[in-house]
Amino acid sequence: MLLFIHAPKEDGEWAMGAASRWWLHHSIVAFDESIRRLGSRLIIRQGPSLAMLRQVIAETGAQRIVWNRAYEPRTIERDKEIKESLRQDGLIVESFNSTLFYEPWEVKRAKGEPYKVFTPYWKALQSKGLEHSILPLPRSLTLVPADMESLTLENLELLPKIPWDGGLRDAWHPGEKGALTMLDEFLDSEIGGYSAERDRPDHAGTSRLSPYLHFGEIGPRQVAWAIQAKLGCMDGNAGAESFIRQLGWREFAHHLLFHFPHTPESPLNESFLSFRWNEPQSQTLQAWQTGKTGIPLVDAGMRELWHTGWMHNRVRMVAASFLVKNLRIHWLEGARWFWDTLVDADLANNTIGWQWVAGCGADAAPYFRIFNPVLQGQRFDPNGDYVRRWVPELAQLPTRFIHQPWQMPTADLESSGVRLGVDYPYPLVDLKLSREQALEAFKQMGGRV
Ligand SMILES: Cc1cc2nc3c(=O)[nH]c(=O)nc-3n(C[C@H](O)[C@H](O)[C@H](O)COP(=O)(O)OP(=O)(O)OC[C@H]3O[C@@H](n4cnc5c(N)ncnc54)[C@H](O)[C@@H]3O)c2cc1C
Repeated sequence: MLLFIHAPKEDGEWAMGAASRWWLHHSIVAFDESIRRLGSRLIIRQGPSLAMLRQVIAETGAQRIVWNRAYEPRTIERDKEIKESLRQDGLIVESFNSTLFYEPWEVKRAKGEPYKVFTPYWKALQSKGLEHSILPLPRSLTLVPADMESLTLENLELLPKIPWDGGLRDAWHPGEKGALTMLDEFLDSEIGGYSAERDRPDHAGTSRLSPYLHFGEIGPRQVAWAIQAKLGCMDGNAGAESFIRQLGWREFAHHLLFHFPHTPESPLNESFLSFRWNEPQSQTLQAWQTGKTGIPLVDAGMRELWHTGWMHNRVRMVAASFLVKNLRIHWLEGARWFWDTLVDADLANNTIGWQWVAGCGADAAPYFRIFNPVLQGQRFDPNGDYVRRWVPELAQLPTRFIHQPWQMPTADLESSGVRLGVDYPYPLVDLKLSREQALEAFKQMGGRV
């Protein structure tokens, strides 16, 4: 029998954000449909996990309980307690890995310490092998008694009360079928060019598998297996190697979260505990969140995020850098906003992403390498197509000025339909000056530029 227990009160500060709850709702719908095709149905309960499990065990007489492991620090603690309690009750309890190539504790340095640098970690993991056999789907599942109680999904109230989710509905098809379609399309058309295209937000060059991977609708082993089956071999195919390496970053993020469980709230590099952040002004933070900073590439990314629940990786780095360096607002403010709005919000990946950009994480970008959003735009969105799509008020601007409208003569701006400060904001900060101020704050912390 398959059971889903909704226990939001157990999640603490990192309880699922609104976009993740939307995904979860549709993911459960898809999961239930697929197990109904195999002759069963999903039982849904809500409340404390252990108590709910005991209730279902009493109702069914179950003797063996199994689940796939999850790796958020609170979840690990909770699942350990549940395992011990049920074993004391005399039940067989087992958990499995379906999320990662290897468990976070299986890849370690010679002295048993965790890795803090990606490349040696990745080499060590690759040397263990990425090829795993995958299990076939079950042909049928046991029937659930007709009178067995189950909540409806509506009882869980996962969907937004004010319907802001139209963009999400247009962009995604949660569930295993959606994941496999996405993977097939990516392998058919994009994987070959992935290493060149993965930095281009104006092209559809990445897999968009992140929410499916996060929710366990597909696993990295299955992805590696499909690449192998399609291409015959991963080695020597630049696109495939580069893509698998990104799955390696995901794996590394889980490794770090497991070994340094305090990092969702606190920098791995403790020197940053004394960094002087600016007190976030609600207006400034809101301008960043809603894509009204006056920096086109940042605004395009933040609007893509709000509309679709996803943002291109290159733009995540630029938008995050603008928040933590040019505005000098604490990375946790950004991490929390991403947590609420991303459909792929993932404690391991979000933490490593923010700490990488802020320069305070493992193998992070050196602090002094501050992204210039204008140059990033000119390089990775050279015709401005991405900006034109998400910031339509700038659509008529000539390409030369699309990433820096403030440099355009006022009369020319107006003939392109833009009055700065009216139709589109002036930049929140001067990029050059705010960069210098960030470097100064870094020096005061004791950092070397
Ligand atoms: C500030 C910031 C926050 C981020 N927050 C998240 C998050 O909450 N959840 C999330 O899944 N990713 C996060 N990322 C990583 C990355 O941006 C996304 O995984 C990627 O954009 C997802 O798109 P894709 O599936 O098309 O990626 P692809 O390029 O197709 O990569 C394939 C898979 O590899 C993994 N991956 C790719 N890049 C990274 C990376 N840098 N770190 C870890 N795993 C990676 C993802 O699971 C992804 O689905 C963050 C990055 C930054 C800079």
